[in-house]
Amino acid sequence: MLTFKDVHAGYGATPILFGVSLEVRPGEAVALLGKNGMGKTTLMKTAIGFLKPSRGSIEFDGQELTRLAPHAIARLGVGLVPENRRIFPGLTVRENLDLGLSAARDRSGALRRRRFEEVFHHFPRLSERIDQPGKTLSGGEQQMLAIARVMMAGARIILMDEPTQGLAPAFIRLVRDMVGELKRLGVTVLLVEQNARVALSVCDRGYIMEKGTIVFAASSAELRESPVTREKLGV
Ligand code: ADP
Repeated sequence: MLTFKDVHAGYGATPILFGVSLEVRPGEAVALLGKNGMGKTTLMKTAIGFLKPSRGSIEFDGQELTRLAPHAIARLGVGLVPENRRIFPGLTVRENLDLGLSAARDRSGALRRRRFEEVFHHFPRLSERIDQPGKTLSGGEQQMLAIARVMMAGARIILMDEPTQGLAPAFIRLVRDMVGELKRLGVTVLLVEQNARVALSVCDRGYIMEKGTIVFAASSAELRESPVTREKLGV
């Protein structure tokens, strides 16, 4: 569904990714693990078009993404839940969700109602807080809102960058359950996580990234057991 082939990218003259190849198949949840500064966020930025690779290709459902603008990539169904969530703190839950819809191809009233119903069905907590400003939500609820916002846009694959960062244990479990829920809905997930234990408990497979390259790829069961995981992640 989403395929990176030999992707090289960086910032200005500083190369960060050195020939990354990885694949996420429809309906899978895939973990992208690695210590800080290894290039995981950079990889996500190339997928959504914020950063253009100097070499290589990124395909989504067979369509080349590297020449498309970020809004065009979002309309194809690639959604990012960025690090630190980045919801709009002064806007209400409803307004934040409406902004998600603005990235959708079809913005009719019927679609808006359907998407709101879906989101509230899966995240009833958000419906209870619909008119509250985003900043009054807890960290876990803000994460939920950030995920719901890309669902409003009709994302078929969601790239999540460190969703459990800074959350209390109860909310870490909530985020893990949300990823499970997305999988049940048939939404494909690529999850960047520092917390390998959480990521591997919910993902089918994983990749380990080190200094801008993929150094290990295996099933979650294998990654949990492998000494390579401990060596590369220090866990
Ligand atoms: P990770 O997500 O694995 O923690 P990042 O992709 O955020 O890693 O960062 C990889 C490298 O790119 C780091 O050395 C970081 O300092 C550098 N980097 C990240 N963002 C920028 C930027 N906007 N400009 C220059 N260098 C950056």
